[in-house]
Amino acid sequence: MARLMVVDDSKIVYMNMVKLLQDTEFEIVHYCRSGEEAIEVYKEVRPDLVTMDIIMPGMDGLEASRQILSEFPDARIIMFSSLAYDDTIEEAEKIGAKGFIYKPFEKEKVLCRLREVIKG
Ligand SMILES: [Mg+2]
Repeated sequence: MARLMVVDDSKIVYMNMVKLLQDTEFEIVHYCRSGEEAIEVYKEVRPDLVTMDIIMPGMDGLEASRQILSEFPDARIIMFSSLAYDDTIEEAEKIGAKGFIYKPFEKEKVLCRLREVIKG
């Protein structure tokens, strides 16, 4: 099983992920509702994969990713966002995120991307 941490201020997104990943090789080991929490929990949990929302109250997902990756350069973080602006995508790449998935997401697309990132 691949251990996944979901970061999103929307509980609905988390619930959708739980449903989407049922009966797959991915297990959600932690759910965080803010960037600050994600940074703290990442150190403890060391998940194989993180899905990271961008817009959250307080610290946004780009900043949280930047901080996690500066301490753990091997962290596999996929941005999950309804934002599709070029500069956001560029910024995510610059930080070292392993890709971008747009909400609302489709099961096959999400699974495919998660599998690619896990394989490296
Ligand atoms: Mg959000």
